[in-house]
Amino acid sequence: MLIIKRPRGTNDLFYESAKKMSFVQNEINKIATIHGFSEIRTPIFESTELFTRGIGEETDIVSKEMFTFLDRGGRSLTLRPENTAAVVRAYLENSLQKEYAMNKLFYIGSMYRGERPQKGRYREFHQFGIECIGSSSYLADVETILLNVAILDSFNITETELVINTVGCPNCKPKYNQALRESLSSEKDNLCETCQVRYDKNILRMLDCKNPTCQEIIKKIPTFYDFVCDECREHFDGLCEELTRLGQAFTINPMLVRGLDYYTKTAFEIQSSNLGAQSAILGGGRYDKLAGMFNNGVDVPAVGSAMGIERLIFMIENEKFIEDRLDVFIIAFKETINHVMPILKRLRANNIKSDFDFDLKSIKSQFKLANKKNAKYTLIIGTDEISKNVCKIRDMDSGDEKEVSLDNIEKELKNK
Ligand code: AMP
Repeated sequence: MLIIKRPRGTNDLFYESAKKMSFVQNEINKIATIHGFSEIRTPIFESTELFTRGIGEETDIVSKEMFTFLDRGGRSLTLRPENTAAVVRAYLENSLQKEYAMNKLFYIGSMYRGERPQKGRYREFHQFGIECIGSSSYLADVETILLNVAILDSFNITETELVINTVGCPNCKPKYNQALRESLSSEKDNLCETCQVRYDKNILRMLDCKNPTCQEIIKKIPTFYDFVCDECREHFDGLCEELTRLGQAFTINPMLVRGLDYYTKTAFEIQSSNLGAQSAILGGGRYDKLAGMFNNGVDVPAVGSAMGIERLIFMIENEKFIEDRLDVFIIAFKETINHVMPILKRLRANNIKSDFDFDLKSIKSQFKLANKKNAKYTLIIGTDEISKNVCKIRDMDSGDEKEVSLDNIEKELKNK
């Protein structure tokens, strides 16, 4: 019995599931490139401090979910729980502002969070992320949202809702926090335990509490929009107007604050009721103050988002995954085996997807395997055929067979 199993919350991908993952990643790569974004690849582990400082000590991710370890030199490293902080680190470390004033970057890769696993929530999962670094224009927010929408559209995912909000900036956030505190002071004892801590440490995080009692209390609080400064209001209005001009439907939800501390101004999510409890397929927002944390306070305006690829795959209809058929499966006999590899080499050099059974079991089992691999054609190489310098090509859908000279196999198959 196998005694070592994969770690909790991780997945093995093979055959269909691995094909789906590659297909989706390739499509995303194509669409991001069409939108003028370039790929960035950063390490899977980073210095722990990058995340504790960048994401915020009080967030669930940092306080409960990170996979942190010491390397042999005693340095604390962490498997990346998200990638925005790492992309900003790479941007600063490699002086990407010298490449372009505005860097339009995307990544596709695995992230690690020690969450309680359930459907749509894993400890190792994949994200497609966008980071537009260097522009404070609301059009960069629009561009980020539109690329995500284009990807969902390309997979025919339509039952979604774009939800947006503004979470202000260091000018107006404190005023709103103060207003929240005042409006909730009489209810503090009725809040859940976590929110009582949040009330003192990070009151904004209370807004996305799922506890029913807290949700009832929160319904009565003032909304952020009434407290934002002129700059944040103009930004948010510009974003809403541009989305409307583009015919992009959206809803404003004043309770949307998102889990990470670094957001300023825009916060958004695309949600789908098809995803059950884990309703967000992607989330993002502006993080104008993040770079400044690692850059002696020199801020770089930026906006980004992250989409969960497992959740995306879950929503894609199976028909969208193009059927991937093998072109040719070679059927041979012990006496003719020496002809197999040279023919396979020729076929593959001509981009004809081809395979065979190394162990040459019975003819019946070779045909069974050809069917299992969904081969369009089988190429039968018997002793009779070899003596005539031919092989038989059988169309596996119609059953039709044709004798073809061994010298013309590629040509014959390419014509089909
Ligand atoms: P976040 O980085 O928390 O804003 O998440 C962005 C997106 O990543 C979510 O909307 C999900 O689609 C996906 N995601 C986040 N955490 C997980 C997880 N533990 N397992 C699978 N997908 C996740």
